[in-house]
Amino acid sequence: MSTSEGKQTRAFQTEVRQLLDLMIHSLYSNKEIFLRELISNASDAADKLRFEAIANESLYEGESQIAIRVTFDKEANTLTIADNGIGMTAAEVETNIGTIARSGTREFLQSLKEDQAKDANLIGQFGVGFYSSFIVADRVTLLTRKAGASSDAGVCWESAGDGVYTLENITKETRGTEVILHLKAEEKDFLDDWRLRSTIRKFSDHVSWPILMLKSAGYSPDEDEEEKSDAEQQPVAEKTPEWETVNKASALWTRAKSEITEEEYTEFYKHVGHDFEEPLAHIHARLEGKYEYTVLLYLPKRPPFDLWDRDRKHGVKLFVRRVFIMEGAEDLMPRYLRFIRGVVDSSDLPLNVSREILQKNPAVDAIKKGMTGKIFSLLEDLAKNDAEKYQTFWDTFGVVMKEGVIEDFANRERVAKLLRFSSTHTDSKVQDVSLEAYVARMREKQQAIYYVNGESSDAARHHPHLEVFRKKGIEVLLLTDRVDEWLVTHLHEFDGKPLTSVAKGGLDLGELEDEADKKELEKQQGEFKEFIERVQKGLGELVKEVRITNRLIDSPSCLVSGEHDLSASMERILREAGQQTPATKRTLELNPSHPLVVRLKEENDESRFNDLTHILFSQALLSEGGQLEDPAEFVRRLNTLLLGK
Ligand code: ADP
Ligand code: MG
Repeated sequence: MSTSEGKQTRAFQTEVRQLLDLMIHSLYSNKEIFLRELISNASDAADKLRFEAIANESLYEGESQIAIRVTFDKEANTLTIADNGIGMTAAEVETNIGTIARSGTREFLQSLKEDQAKDANLIGQFGVGFYSSFIVADRVTLLTRKAGASSDAGVCWESAGDGVYTLENITKETRGTEVILHLKAEEKDFLDDWRLRSTIRKFSDHVSWPILMLKSAGYSPDEDEEEKSDAEQQPVAEKTPEWETVNKASALWTRAKSEITEEEYTEFYKHVGHDFEEPLAHIHARLEGKYEYTVLLYLPKRPPFDLWDRDRKHGVKLFVRRVFIMEGAEDLMPRYLRFIRGVVDSSDLPLNVSREILQKNPAVDAIKKGMTGKIFSLLEDLAKNDAEKYQTFWDTFGVVMKEGVIEDFANRERVAKLLRFSSTHTDSKVQDVSLEAYVARMREKQQAIYYVNGESSDAARHHPHLEVFRKKGIEVLLLTDRVDEWLVTHLHEFDGKPLTSVAKGGLDLGELEDEADKKELEKQQGEFKEFIERVQKGLGELVKEVRITNRLIDSPSCLVSGEHDLSASMERILREAGQQTPATKRTLELNPSHPLVVRLKEENDESRFNDLTHILFSQALLSEGGQLEDPAEFVRRLNTLLLGK
């Protein structure tokens, strides 16, 4: 934008600006997390360098000792986190630090801003790692140079978090990134050797790279901050610096379970999961057999921000003998478990593994199977022993899990057992009814598991087709997620009981049918025969058929799909998705006991008869959440009747 002596000033993407603003104003507790975030980034950069150096050793530039260095300067009021990892080019700095390439960011930001406490949590969920620097700094300088590039290809990025940043080309001898935080006056407390060390041990102990601090070069905690002699401030530059490692610096998952605390598991999750929150559960296991590998997998509590993002970059990280290889490989975890975070470390894969090799390697298939099995065990265990956690899981990831029924034929039964629905048993929106619980409650002689699809919980609960089921005390599952439409086309039965829509085909309650009711219906069918023909003629092409039904109690009419037709809601979904689907004609069923139907039967005025029939048809469509082809016509007919014309 503007240039002076090679320094360019640019504006942050609007979203970044808003995010920074929120960040600065709402993350007031746990300020020290900025350190964890910057160390986490340094660690990722180190992982990337080591991976790339497998194929190109020159990237080490003669220095293969990778470390993260944390230093501070009390006089300059700065805290610096430096790594000799992969580094960034100028273009990478711009895309990674100046913009947020995540879909839905704007909507996300709009949903914030109301309640500050809520904001803090949501921002955490969003995972704005680098920007957390501005919680404690009023100016941030980032110096970086890509590994393998010439020393004059360095970049200096700087911002006061106020909407703009500058970029400048610099010379940087060493590869990697250095983040210099110019601390706010009120955050000077961070310039404290003891405090930094304990913060690192608390949040970053699990980092597998050494985090170094200068030995005894810092200041001692009991000295007076204001009056420092130069001699005490300068020793760093004068002596040959002596570094010492502050963290354990070993890969957490390689350590024995018994030696790892819950806190360490949690902090490691925040690093691999790019999350501020603790996870819901984890599983740490070493699998042995034909292939050997270690998994440390986490079930998050909140949906990762990129759950619905096709280009999401995070997922399970693959390591080969502790060397980071790649993240989020689709071949390692089924798509419907894409919310799982963590690591898998295998000794059976080559180090120079690429995505293509991954696809062909038999070990990968075995690992995927093994990890999927572990996740199932974890979920089954939660379902059995911790209903509350399981409910949290289901409320958060249930819709994704349901894709498993569709995608994972081999595990369909196992997924089916984990499914939870809302049902007429509780009539609440909460999806907490398992198929097993449904089956256990089935009425004697009940043959099928019944369900109804609806656009919303209310639409499903009030669906006219449910009336007879409620009367007879037969439970019906209320399916309101879009994916449910697909789910039921793949899950045909459970425990030998067919899943049956209450809105498809003729109502056949089998032995639950009352003999007297059946006889009554047959009798009515005779009485209504002529009338039905008259209705059918009036509606013409709108319906496939008209018939009398015993499935309605309070409603006069409903529409029924053919046994093998697409359901009405599925048709709607497909049409909204831009697919050409010919509208399937459906059967109009009329309730012979309803006063409106009775009155209609006696109607002699052709025009009134016609209006009323069309209204009954439109009502049937409306009450299941459908849309009228010609709403204005409906209104006109209704008004004619209301005026008694
Ligand atoms: P995340 O770590 O979740 O991707 P961050 O905001 O922490 O998000 O970082 C944004 C991006 O900036 C990183 O994905 C990475 O590409 C880049 N980045 C940040 N810090 C460094 C670093 N020390 N070295 C190299 N790249 C970095
Ligand atoms: Mg990060």
